Amino acid sequence: MPELPEVEHVVRALRRAIVGRTIIASEIKLPKLISPSSVSSFKRKIKGSSITGISRRGKFILIELDHEVALPNGRASDTGSAGARPARPVKPWLVLVVHLRMTGAFLYLSAEDELPKHSHAIFYFDNDRRLVFRDQRQFGIMKLVPAAKLADLKGIAELAPEPFSSDFNSDYLKDVLKRSRRSLKTLLLDQTRVLGLGNIYAAEALFRARINPFKPASELSSRRVARLHEAIKEVLEFAVAHIRGGFNLEVGVSYGEAFERFWQVYEREGEPCVKCGARIKRATHGGRSTYWCPKCQRR
Ligand SMILES: [Zn+2]
Repeated sequence: MPELPEVEHVVRALRRAIVGRTIIASEIKLPKLISPSSVSSFKRKIKGSSITGISRRGKFILIELDHEVALPNGRASDTGSAGARPARPVKPWLVLVVHLRMTGAFLYLSAEDELPKHSHAIFYFDNDRRLVFRDQRQFGIMKLVPAAKLADLKGIAELAPEPFSSDFNSDYLKDVLKRSRRSLKTLLLDQTRVLGLGNIYAAEALFRARINPFKPASELSSRRVARLHEAIKEVLEFAVAHIRGGFNLEVGVSYGEAFERFWQVYEREGEPCVKCGARIKRATHGGRSTYWCPKCQRR
């Protein structure tokens, strides 16, 4: 499953490839991907849209569309005044919201490239290229949402501040930890409290901050909160910077693997700690594997 750094990597790669392009047609081969929208309505809405930007909220990829619906008589529908050339909307009208979930991935293909297996959505661009969404496990989601309603979308509305934004600061983290009755490790995985850490990066951030994962979140001193805040940002920034390749990350690469050679505790049970030489431990906590150094991360 892609974690936030992998999704950020995909966003950057998509941005380089398709911003400014126009979608001339699309094909949806798996209707449940865009449910509850119907295939015909989805295709009609997206046709002729230009891509004005690509961003991300949590692990949702936001493809911003400058959407201008062509009416049968040739007028455009985005202004009321008949005959006048419509002003370009300042904000995108529609956003194509995509969640990769388990196995979703994008491929950017030329007209000659063969369509891979499990290609469920295909977007044809004005430069003869195609953006393909493939998804073996079929848990991915694609939704066309009016830009104005994006912030209220279920799944997005609840998310904690972005980890690279100024809203995610040491004071914010301190406040969130103080109010929790859970262990640090469990809390750090809750995307409505701290955004961006999956199982791998939570373990790595706690190791870097030298904090025990089982410690009750509310018992962390201000000094340690500040250290944890730094470590979370460091781990995520480092991961984004070290993911290589294009955005078809699924080819021969399991998510997180791009970062694997940098893992210091994750999946290193029994190996010597890189800092002190003690054996890395593993325990199942809240249904997930947790890795830590018993010496560097004492309770
Ligand atoms: Zn150690």
